[in-house]
Amino acid sequence: MSSHASPRLAGKVCLVTGAAQGIGLATAEKFAREGAIVVVCDLKRDAVDAAVARCREAGGAAEGEVANVADRAQVDAMVAAVMARHGRIDVLVNNAGITRDARLQKMTLEQFDQVIDVNLRGVFHCAQAVVDTMVAQGSGVILNASSVVGLYGNFGQTNYAAAKFGVIGFTKTWSRELGPKGVRVNAVAPGFIETPILDTIPDKVLDHMREQVPLRRLGTPEEIANVYAFLASDEASYVNGAVLEVSGGMTV
Ligand code: NAD
Repeated sequence: MSSHASPRLAGKVCLVTGAAQGIGLATAEKFAREGAIVVVCDLKRDAVDAAVARCREAGGAAEGEVANVADRAQVDAMVAAVMARHGRIDVLVNNAGITRDARLQKMTLEQFDQVIDVNLRGVFHCAQAVVDTMVAQGSGVILNASSVVGLYGNFGQTNYAAAKFGVIGFTKTWSRELGPKGVRVNAVAPGFIETPILDTIPDKVLDHMREQVPLRRLGTPEEIANVYAFLASDEASYVNGAVLEVSGGMTV
């Protein structure tokens, strides 16, 4: 935060799923720097605690919740705990996501179901768990992690592409349903970002990805976090139902 600007998310209760590493962690830290009360949600207690510590080092208020977004009871318990502490939820970032890649001819039902359960059903669970609160407040922001794969498809990602296209369908539908109630809903479609999710991709393929991007490099988690911070803030007060591609221009 620069000294002349007031923090853009001051006092806002912001729940970020999948916030223990990668884009989610960078987003939680960014939100903390912007004055938010950040709720870090992820699967494992030690990773959640470490992320909370990093948010506090960034100068913000943070607390952790261990929850699997694919499990509705755990999501409901997490949201109930946040409501008990703060009585409001201003921003939900539906960031948690996984890959289980295989070509159509090889993909197992288990691979298909795992990705749909986390990347699509998990987004539905979290949004449904917070929506009544946001509508009652007359304000709120829901941000959904899609992907360039959710705009154009990708070799080996039948399950992931279906989920990320689906997330765009959620975004457009919820922006129509909730806009009249003061709740904005948008999606971010990152290109290829340097996070552990790319760990399984061979170096040769990563080099090829870089060549496809006019900026000639992969993105950083912070560059996605900056976009989430903008969309979460009142600066984006007229942005609703949008899918913002943040890919260095890779699909131009
Ligand atoms: P990552 O693998 O680095 O981090 C994902 C985090 O989500 C992990 O901390 C993981 O523990 C958590 N998580 C996984 N399943 C969960 C569940 N069921 N419940 C709660 N938390 C869970 O991933 P990333 O690269 O930071 O990606 C974040 C989001 O951005 C994902 O939705 C991903 O699909 C999307 N995305 C990433 C890229 C990229 O290039 N990295 C590109 C486009 C979209």
